[in-house]
Amino acid sequence: MKHVYTLDDLKTGDLPNNARLAVLGYPVSHSKSPQMHQAALDALKIDVTYIRIELEPGSLAEAFELMQEHGFIGCNVTIPHKFEARENCDEVSSSVELLGVANTIHFKDGKVLGDNSDGPGLLRALEDDFECVLEGARVLLLGAGGGAGKAIATQLNQAGCTSLVLSNRTVSKVEDLANDLTDSGTKISVLGSSAEALAEVAGELDIIINATSMGMKPEDAVPFPTEAITAQHKVYDAVYNPVETKLLEAAKANGAMTANGLSMLIHQGAVSFELWLGQKPDIKLMRQAISSTS
Ligand code: NAP
Repeated sequence: MKHVYTLDDLKTGDLPNNARLAVLGYPVSHSKSPQMHQAALDALKIDVTYIRIELEPGSLAEAFELMQEHGFIGCNVTIPHKFEARENCDEVSSSVELLGVANTIHFKDGKVLGDNSDGPGLLRALEDDFECVLEGARVLLLGAGGGAGKAIATQLNQAGCTSLVLSNRTVSKVEDLANDLTDSGTKISVLGSSAEALAEVAGELDIIINATSMGMKPEDAVPFPTEAITAQHKVYDAVYNPVETKLLEAAKANGAMTANGLSMLIHQGAVSFELWLGQKPDIKLMRQAISSTS
């Protein structure tokens, strides 16, 4: 079995016999989705192989057609294909309609169905890691205008939070988002990303979520003024590489409960798995599989 398959492999059919699920990206060789899904498939004795397929932008329509011919059940879609995936769906969920991007594709009854598992994945991750119910919580979302941020904001808006502060460097993006969110009873406000503005609201927060891309590189600035974090906060960072960002390191030192984005990755995978197969995967096994591979 190859580490990565290509469009040419889809054309020639040079695929494992039971290849029925995949992650599509460009690049995609780093993706841990195959390890995580395969462990869950094997445990449930489902005779399906999950593979990586590297596709250049502009080739998703052809890939979807070929995958359906080969009997694929569905796929996950990662950077940079989430917009293109949505454009090539026959039907999409309401969250994809709102967000404009799909990260989960289900081939069903000759149709390409698009969904987005980032929001539900994050919600389950918070409940799991912090053992918290979001009902009544006061939440700040950093990077709310990004792809993941929008998905998370949409989900949090439906989770019964008391208040949700949408923070983004480019404020206009969250102003548009705030207008798009339906009235759910959660008090929505919009904020920039300056340290001063963030420090000012810190005392009125229970949960701080980082959905900016800051923290992935060692030279990145910290997206929240760490001196304003206290033991009253729970801090979640969607970044999982590095395992402990500077934000999480400082939050932990200040006594806050912390968790990284690995749980979001696992839970969004589990949401896709359930959609494709109608069965719940073993989360612990998925976590083990992902943690035991470099
Ligand atoms: P994206 O669409 O490119 O959004 C990036 C976000 O970061 C935007 O809100 C952007 O603000 C903000 N940002 C970037 N550089 C900044 C800076 N120097 N100062 C302030 N804000 C800055 O990316 P994405 O796909 O949403 O991903 C965001 C993060 O979530 C990434 O770290 C990704 O790895 C992580 N993620 C994790 C999972 C998981 O399963 N754990 C899933 C999806 C994403 P502007 O709008 O102003 O540019």
